[in-house]
Amino acid sequence: MKFADLHLHTHFSDGTFSPEELAGHGARLKFSALALTDHDSVEGCAPMAAACSAAGIEFIPGTELTAEFNDIEVHLLGYFLDIRNQTLLEEIARFQVVRQNRIRQMTARLNELGVPLAAEAVFALANCRSPGRPHVARALVQAGLVRNLDEAFERYLKKNRPAWVPKAKMSALEGIELIHRAGGVAVMAHPGLNRSDEIIPALVDAGLDGIECFHTKHSTTMSERYLEIADRHHLLVTGGSDCHGFSKGKPLIGTVKLPYEHVVALKAKAESRKAKPGPPPAAGA
Ligand code: AMP
Ligand code: ZN
Ligand code: FE
Ligand code: FE
Repeated sequence: MKFADLHLHTHFSDGTFSPEELAGHGARLKFSALALTDHDSVEGCAPMAAACSAAGIEFIPGTELTAEFNDIEVHLLGYFLDIRNQTLLEEIARFQVVRQNRIRQMTARLNELGVPLAAEAVFALANCRSPGRPHVARALVQAGLVRNLDEAFERYLKKNRPAWVPKAKMSALEGIELIHRAGGVAVMAHPGLNRSDEIIPALVDAGLDGIECFHTKHSTTMSERYLEIADRHHLLVTGGSDCHGFSKGKPLIGTVKLPYEHVVALKAKAESRKAKPGPPPAAGA
């Protein structure tokens, strides 16, 4: 039986594994296919492709975009992306700047609270173009300003806590279009975490291709619910661990094993999309 993990992060965003380490875990766990879905980044895809190839694993280039629809946050996974697509790279670069500015705003808030963490310390620790709250949390631990990551989020970084700064997001409709323009397949990530099922029909109308039914944080009941929704809206089914490295001593990779038949369906969709390029850019765009 062949299986895949289609939701993984490396140190090119807020994961801690290198592509080589991640592919190593994939090989140890006997995965046939892995997708890399770093936040607002495709930079790790080339090294991950090489590492997977060396390990005899099929690789699917991807990303995870933070988007919103009607003020509801939705994470969009893009698969089989052309990682050299100019529009995709420009939009990603734009959101990386948004992330970097947000780190400066969060450290300024911390400083106002009397917590002396410099933005530069976060950038040095993150060492990537897509820094996020996990990097701020790790920098706080490293500087001895909190005891652990949970304390960093609970005291400062969780939504509505004093150092939390909302992130400017792209609209979900733009996100779907961006993924399609790059020849990719657009999938709604971990719907069970966002509790926003009411927006699914609108996203389907906007061209959403699939839904992540299997995820580490989905209960069996949740997965069943999203399988039903996928069936009702003729959506592709995906799944992944959302592994960010070691979590409480163990990596999450291996907790979700998506049957390979879903990768076959995803690939067929991407191929049909590449055979039929989208509309030309609007005049003057
Ligand atoms: P950001 O994209 O900068 O808003 O950071 C979001 C990331 O932070 C998520 O992908 C999670 O990995 C992590 N995260 C969010 N909330 C928590 C929490 N309460 N504890 C630990 N990690 C969290
Ligand atoms: Zn993350
Ligand atoms: Fe996510
Ligand atoms: Fe993720």
